[in-house]
Amino acid sequence: MKIAITGGIGSGKTTVRNLIAQMGYTVFDADTVARSLSNDPAYVKKVLATFPTAATAAGEIDRKALASIVFQNEDALRRLNAIAHPIVMQRILLQMQEAENAGNTPVFAEIPLLFEGEYENLFDGVFVVKRSLSARIAATRDRDGLSEEEVLARMKNQIDYSKKDLSAYTIIENDGDLFTLFRRLAEELEKIH
Ligand code: ATP
Repeated sequence: MKIAITGGIGSGKTTVRNLIAQMGYTVFDADTVARSLSNDPAYVKKVLATFPTAATAAGEIDRKALASIVFQNEDALRRLNAIAHPIVMQRILLQMQEAENAGNTPVFAEIPLLFEGEYENLFDGVFVVKRSLSARIAATRDRDGLSEEEVLARMKNQIDYSKKDLSAYTIIENDGDLFTLFRRLAEELEKIH
């Protein structure tokens, strides 16, 4: 059984993934896979053909330059995602399948843009981490040293979770301390077995 963990910026996806890993489950992370793409020559070639100003002198991807391009321009972000996401999803599903074949189930993957990419049906289940907007803004601002405006700009690239019908998914409310979150996760995982 493959389960995706998703939610808005600063909702607590990584925290949930880490707690699930501490409980002994196998977990993966789309961002980690995405970072490893810079070693994939086909990916690098496509990205630099689309964003020539994001190249280093050595012909590699300058990740900071690329991030500043795509966070200022919605269309640029869409084009980068269209290159990266299908490769990331393919790799992560393969990793999950290998873990399952080795006898691990359920297996989990943190997929920040699951709904935006319409990848939800590739998984047997989805955990959606929900947290108040004010807590998400404060946590992201403090963690990444961003201004509130910068956090809000990044949120514009994600769906509005308050407007999405999430009734088909498992909601993980992150509105308490870490112990409360751990307890809620343990309850949900109990239902899976
Ligand atoms: P992003 O999408 O930006 O990567 P995320 O959804 O993965 O964010 P986390 O990184 O898990 O969110 O959480 C954001 C911040 O809030 C982190 O600094 C984390 O330690 C903190 N945090 C999350 N949940 C809790 C909680 N229940 N109690 C205290 N701190 C929390």
